[in-house]
Amino acid sequence: SSSVHVIGAGLAGSEAAWQVAKAGVPVVLHEMRPDRMTEAHRTDGLAELVCSNSFRSDDAASNAVGLLHAEMRRLDSLIMRAADANQVPAGGALAVDRDGFSAAVTEALNDHPLIEIARGEVAGLPPADWSNVIVATGPLTSAPLADAIRELTDENALAFFDAIAPIVHRESIDMSVAWFQSRYDKVGPGGNGADYINCPMTKEQYDGFVAALIAGEKTEFKEWETNTPYFDGCLPIEVMAERGPETLRHGPMKPVGLTNPHDPTTKPYAVVQLRQDNKLGTLYNIVGFQTKLKYGEQQRIFRTIPGLEKAEFARLGGLHRNTFLNSPKLLDGQLRLRAQPRLRFAGQMTGCEGYVESASVGLIAGLYAAADARGETLVSPPATTALGSLLGHITGGHIETIEPGTRSFQPMNINFGLFPPLATVPAKKPDGTRLRGSEKTVAKKQALSARALADLDRWIADHLRIAAAA
Ligand code: FAD
Repeated sequence: SSSVHVIGAGLAGSEAAWQVAKAGVPVVLHEMRPDRMTEAHRTDGLAELVCSNSFRSDDAASNAVGLLHAEMRRLDSLIMRAADANQVPAGGALAVDRDGFSAAVTEALNDHPLIEIARGEVAGLPPADWSNVIVATGPLTSAPLADAIRELTDENALAFFDAIAPIVHRESIDMSVAWFQSRYDKVGPGGNGADYINCPMTKEQYDGFVAALIAGEKTEFKEWETNTPYFDGCLPIEVMAERGPETLRHGPMKPVGLTNPHDPTTKPYAVVQLRQDNKLGTLYNIVGFQTKLKYGEQQRIFRTIPGLEKAEFARLGGLHRNTFLNSPKLLDGQLRLRAQPRLRFAGQMTGCEGYVESASVGLIAGLYAAADARGETLVSPPATTALGSLLGHITGGHIETIEPGTRSFQPMNINFGLFPPLATVPAKKPDGTRLRGSEKTVAKKQALSARALADLDRWIADHLRIAAAA
């Protein structure tokens, strides 16, 4: 049929349907609730928030998710409109009344003459005559659809018991303590023998660290997490620590093949390694540090690692069920499945993380699908925008690990580490005095935000005229 079919009316699917209809293209929005519920959803409302009611910082001038809010508002996002209309006080954050928010989204979609809401599970690959489909079924995609997609993509898994390691901003690592070196100076593909950042520990530091891991507060398992397989068989670091004091020293923290240039004669007792996580080299993940420690505990304990005392985290570790594609390999630049381009993906399934990010990928998927329906191709938003940076993470910007059988692509929140660096970094205040310390970081974020919004406005003016006129 000539309609766009959107599967899943969560954060991404609701926004996608709205954008398609706004562009003048009819859309059928399929939602399995309430006939079939997920393990986390409680209502039949569209865009139900399954956990927190926060859309995080609303500071567009110096926070990456706040910037994403601003970009979405400029694109007339339904999710942002409903959030703004149902805001509750939360300091600098945008938090919402979850029922009011969901009701506003449901009503707007119900009322739109070009949108038909079809309740019912899509329990397998969509029918062959749906030629323009957006799959936005989220981290808890129902099993029949997940199985069908897995078969189509030839991947061995799609739903993971997902243990993720924390990611650190490179510029927050103290390189007067840490150093670049690959184990045994091994030169891998694209590397130069100094691919990892290494943080040394003495015996006392190591023993204290292991004890802190064991004592640290963990998040509890949900019942629905117990049936899903481990991703790559990786164990949480605190579970390794519990197996014995030497386990980590013989695992991810082994000190062999490394020499500390700051103190070449002292052999470190243990070493924490960080591996480059994005092409730009602005983000590093702590190798083997997947964890179920609570967020606050992670920050406290991981900042005791020498060199990471001032670490800023782009993402903290965690463990939960998650359904997502190996997008850099499986999707093209327009979020279409290479193996079957009539299927476009959106939301957390594509490898973003978070309500706002999921909705934003739904937004762009809706614009792409509407352009397709008109026989046009929409130019992607600039890489300098929050939207473009997130798309870059999903469809290409990621470094593949060299170990066979592993999959390094992991869902991520929007953060400034995903943005291309500034051509010139601000050094002075408007009054001409030099910026110092944290002022520099703030000025850099402000410059990244200003560049993003200017580039987004230009992109809207150049490429969305037809949609805006419609
Ligand atoms: P969803 O919002 O989950 O929407 C998917 C929709 O598809 C659902 O309505 C579902 O019923 C429907 N569906 C699934 N399968 C089918 C099918 N076969 N046919 C038809 N419909 C189907 N992010 C945050 O920012 N803050 C949080 O606090 C937070 N907490 C989370 C807690 C849990 C337990 C999980 C799993 C994730 C959490 N996330 C959180 C991450 C993420 O932001 C949310 O999951 C977000 O809702 C993802 O948006 P989405 O549109 O991709 O999927």
